Amino acid sequence: MQELLTQTEIVTFGKCEKRWEHRYVSWLTPFVESMALSMGSAFHEGLDAGNPEAAVDYLDKQDPAWGQWEDGKNRVNKAIAHTMVSAALKQWQSWPDKSEFQFQLGLPKPGTGNVSKKHRLSGVWDGVWEGSHPRFPGEVVLGEWKTASIVNNDYMQRLDIDFQVSAYLWVASKLYGKPVTKMVYRVVKKPTIRQRKNETEEEYIDRLRQDYEERPEHYLFETVVERTEEQLDEWHKQAWAVHSRMLQIKRGDVPAIKNTQACLSRGRCPYFDLCVGAVTEDAFKRLETKHREIN
Ligand code: SF4
Repeated sequence: MQELLTQTEIVTFGKCEKRWEHRYVSWLTPFVESMALSMGSAFHEGLDAGNPEAAVDYLDKQDPAWGQWEDGKNRVNKAIAHTMVSAALKQWQSWPDKSEFQFQLGLPKPGTGNVSKKHRLSGVWDGVWEGSHPRFPGEVVLGEWKTASIVNNDYMQRLDIDFQVSAYLWVASKLYGKPVTKMVYRVVKKPTIRQRKNETEEEYIDRLRQDYEERPEHYLFETVVERTEEQLDEWHKQAWAVHSRMLQIKRGDVPAIKNTQACLSRGRCPYFDLCVGAVTEDAFKRLETKHREIN
């Protein structure tokens, strides 16, 4: 039976093979979801529903993950999620025909067309305009929505080589049977103002909402990312190479390499305590499904 392989899994593998093994072979995950992950999911729920209240509802259901945050912090985070979704819905008038579109596709070996017997590509596009995007009438255009703490020139330039963009456009080209080369990429920046001393939560939340209203150019970004056929081919070859290496590790032919440079960079790896032997696997939740985002 073929397993589903997502771009998120490929990205995890690229960060550290051991991390991938913990998460996608052993299906281990921390008991408490990180706040950043919860906020990102809430943001997508709100946009998918076209209603900021849906983001708040999502966070309300995140018990016990959210139980760890004291009431005030909880209220502020819900207000932030609500504000970010409201700002996005106000800023952008055109939204795709389809949202949260889940795909599946065989992964063919480059140059042969023989499809992998072990893996099937899967994932979720945030949105697809099937010919109705006002700037690109008649074209299939994908949409991707993100939240980010920092959005600068480097962030935007990196999109030119971002492999998730390439992956999704490659898959879309196969599924639609014609080149799909454009992705509308929208980013909403997280708040850059903090609660002041002697400022109540309500006052801070009001100031926050006002800041997004008055400075949309500081918080909301949109660009159209494009790919050439060569870039899509390059992604395909890399995806095949990663898939082959994953199978070698699963068969026990080679060990999963620990990339120790990634343990503490960009935050502490959630499996750090396990890797250094401070805890056992019992300190983690074992998932019932490999990909939580795929139904
Ligand atoms: S702690 Fe380091 S070696 Fe272990 S999984 Fe995380 S990144 Fe990899």
